[in-house]
Amino acid sequence: MVGFAPIPELDPELLKKYDRAGPRYTSYPTAPAFHEGFQVADYARALKGEMPAPFPTSRQNVSLYFHIPFCDTLCFFCGCNMIVSNNRERIATYLDYLIREIQLNRSYLSDRLLEQLHWGGGTPTHLNPQEIRRLGDAIHSAYSQAENFEASCEVDPRELTDEHLQALYDVGFRRISLGLQDLNPSVQKAVNRIQSLDLTKGVVDKARNIGFQSVNIDLIYGLPRQTIESFAATLEQVLEMGPDRIALFNFAYLPKMFKHHSVLHPEEMPSAADKLEILIRSVQRICSRGYRFIGMDHFARETDELSRAQDHGDLYRNFQGYSTKKGLDVIAHGITGISQVGRTYCQSVKNEKDYFAALDSGNLPVLRGYELSEDDMIRRFVITELMCHFSLGSDQFQKATGKQFQSYFARELERTEAGSLKSMQEDGLLQIRDSGIEIMPVGRFLIRNIAMCFDSHLQNTAAKSTGYSRTI
Ligand code: SF4
Repeated sequence: MVGFAPIPELDPELLKKYDRAGPRYTSYPTAPAFHEGFQVADYARALKGEMPAPFPTSRQNVSLYFHIPFCDTLCFFCGCNMIVSNNRERIATYLDYLIREIQLNRSYLSDRLLEQLHWGGGTPTHLNPQEIRRLGDAIHSAYSQAENFEASCEVDPRELTDEHLQALYDVGFRRISLGLQDLNPSVQKAVNRIQSLDLTKGVVDKARNIGFQSVNIDLIYGLPRQTIESFAATLEQVLEMGPDRIALFNFAYLPKMFKHHSVLHPEEMPSAADKLEILIRSVQRICSRGYRFIGMDHFARETDELSRAQDHGDLYRNFQGYSTKKGLDVIAHGITGISQVGRTYCQSVKNEKDYFAALDSGNLPVLRGYELSEDDMIRRFVITELMCHFSLGSDQFQKATGKQFQSYFARELERTEAGSLKSMQEDGLLQIRDSGIEIMPVGRFLIRNIAMCFDSHLQNTAAKSTGYSRTI
């Protein structure tokens, strides 16, 4: 278990050495490995429980994800699957089909209980309060709730009314995640997202008054016109609001993948050295205010469920990032959604036309997917444990997989080139002993690089990917 680790001195030279493009491991293998040979019949078998994962053991209850792709306006840094639309009829039609998909998925799942619910996007709160209640009612009439049910929703403070918040609360959401990114007016103008401190603070205060138990704020560093000082000022204002969680993302500038990134001016973005300085200062400042570095880009108060799940060895990683519900099947609804069910991943079709057509003919809207081999599951287990708990015991590995860690990964453990486990050990990122592998405090910031050592698909997926983000 990880406990509250001291924050290390972060050496810019060391971080620079490991700054390369790499996956974020919200799945293993990552999405570029998915293929269209995986089709409706495969996913249907998975939903019926015919393709369980042996570790972590598939659990009976389910987690549901709903992708609401619509947004009011385009933020130029956006990297999400979203559609800018204010056509209320279009949104209402999408909602009709989402509700049909709930029924269809449900028909494969016998009487499994709903333990976790997440709405993401796009902007889920681009639905109006009546639509939020309608979708919530459809979910709750299809599923009985597990006792330890939890629900979280991404919200955009710029279009969030009191009625929206109340509707979310009434549907059962107790955790919200606010997009913010940066409070500096010049940065906000450059990225086309104007959102004042007062507006953001108003939403945080109202959410708390209504009874939401956890508020997350998302920040992005590396945006145009940001400076070390301007970002420090944003961070102070955010810390003053006292969110329960903070996510600090590195901006991935990918104009080939996202056409709208090309309206941004790279010459206005902070230099690599400044970005590193922003990261180091921000991490130290956030942790000095009592937040725990959970992993990758996430920080949480010691009292937050994310910290408690990490203490209890129950933290997990899936397409929503860090999750408190290890071993739950995640069933995605809506276009582009990715499900993780047993030993499979399945991605839905990417546009409304295909989505509606599949549901009109009574089919699951499958685009592509992947069935994990035994080796994939073993590697997924290692990568997930390291990313969530920063250690993996040889005994724990043997108990879960029936294999011996040192002999199974003999090749990975023997390599000596730059970026190998041995060279990382020399750089003080990790310790490999007979008893297992332990990530050192500085290695926690380079956990994606460490995970990459166990990724046997990396060469292929990196070639197929339109762009992995930088690891720093
Ligand atoms: S609101 Fe979120 S999803 Fe929509 S464009 Fe902005 S960043 Fe992207």
